[in-house]
Amino acid sequence: MMGKYSYRAVFFVLAFFLSLNGIQDASAQQRSNKIALVGGMLLDGYEAVPIHHAAVVIEGNRITAVGPASEIDIPEDAEVISTEGLTMLPGIVDLHAHLMILGHGEYSEWWPILEDKKEEMMAISAKQLLMAGVTTAVDLGAPLEILNVRDNINNGRLLGPRMFVSGPWITRSGRRFPSHFQRRISSPEEAAEQANDLIDSGVDLIKTWSGMTEDDIRAVVEVAHSRGIKVHSHLYSPEAMWAGVRAGADVIQHAGSGGNPPYSDDLIAAIAHRGIPIVQTIAHRIWIYPATLEFPERLQDARLKEDLPPDLYEEFQRSFEGFHRNSYFRTTPRQMRLSKIAARQFIDANATIAMGTDSGSPMNFHTESAWREISALVDSGMTPIQAISASTKTGAEVIGLGSDLGTIEPGKLADIIVVEGNPLFDINVLGYVRMVIKDGVRHK
Ligand SMILES: [Zn+2]
Repeated sequence: MMGKYSYRAVFFVLAFFLSLNGIQDASAQQRSNKIALVGGMLLDGYEAVPIHHAAVVIEGNRITAVGPASEIDIPEDAEVISTEGLTMLPGIVDLHAHLMILGHGEYSEWWPILEDKKEEMMAISAKQLLMAGVTTAVDLGAPLEILNVRDNINNGRLLGPRMFVSGPWITRSGRRFPSHFQRRISSPEEAAEQANDLIDSGVDLIKTWSGMTEDDIRAVVEVAHSRGIKVHSHLYSPEAMWAGVRAGADVIQHAGSGGNPPYSDDLIAAIAHRGIPIVQTIAHRIWIYPATLEFPERLQDARLKEDLPPDLYEEFQRSFEGFHRNSYFRTTPRQMRLSKIAARQFIDANATIAMGTDSGSPMNFHTESAWREISALVDSGMTPIQAISASTKTGAEVIGLGSDLGTIEPGKLADIIVVEGNPLFDINVLGYVRMVIKDGVRHK
């Protein structure tokens, strides 16, 4: 016969295994109907002055009141959470993540490891992003299993950001990647076919990768737009950028990250005037590489060690040995020199800029990709408040969710993070995330 304590022991053992698997039932979490975050500084996502000693009231999953704490009525039945001495800001929106990779040093060695544990690895990535303050993420390239991961997050069975996913990208090249990450085409007709097929499978957006002609991209855009879907294009060279602009790509990914010498003024002006959003992903090679040379200890990330099985953590460490020789960083020193101008061009031209990280690429861990990219945007000419607004409000607008997400104001969904210190003084404090609230539920 089981006594009271034995039942409790069984419960704890069960809870332990559920948390081990990263599985959490949202209904089982403490979901207070009303929460009030009170006392800290508030950056609401706009390029506006902060509200000091602020209060935010959340009812269910929506924000109902925002302002100085002295002027806000805190409902008597609200759970009051002190944010004194801290800073509240909207959850971060990352427009370029990859759940299928977690920062392993060499892609060609990672694919066979990933093969039989795709969903398990994607679940770890999703949890790491959420704990780093990313409450919304766009995944731009993964096997179709990511649809399950997205759905499991959205129905509360897995921890992670709100996910919007492209599934496999469409490309004419891409020999280096396994077939389930991409759909290879050789004509605009095939490109259109693949776009239709992906949308039928349930993806939220389409990504075109390297090697696509202007007609290829146009064919994808026509299909996607006719079905209410946006197209994100991976583009580096000026020729590819013009092709993407003329073909009507909705979001330009990677351009201006230092992969090329500076662009011509007419290309920059064309993009800025048309208001085509740019997601630069500038940190993933050119900021992370020197940061790792200076402080290789960052590779022994405690959160990576905690989340990965021990043998896999050791395999990651092995993959980092002599990382300057790894194929991914072959051209990085030159990119670092180019980036001194190239990474500033779109910022100086006041193009529409949102934030994306290429999170999961070699040594670019989900645990810190967001703050490193935002910090790189500040290094490249944005003020901290501009970089925060780009990484919250603009990000939400670019994916068409501006009316629900991206700012802290009454009526919006309650995606709020709390960090230590003042990011307007030192943007790197975004690396110290104390609290994460997504959809009105506190996860950290
Ligand atoms: Zn990418």
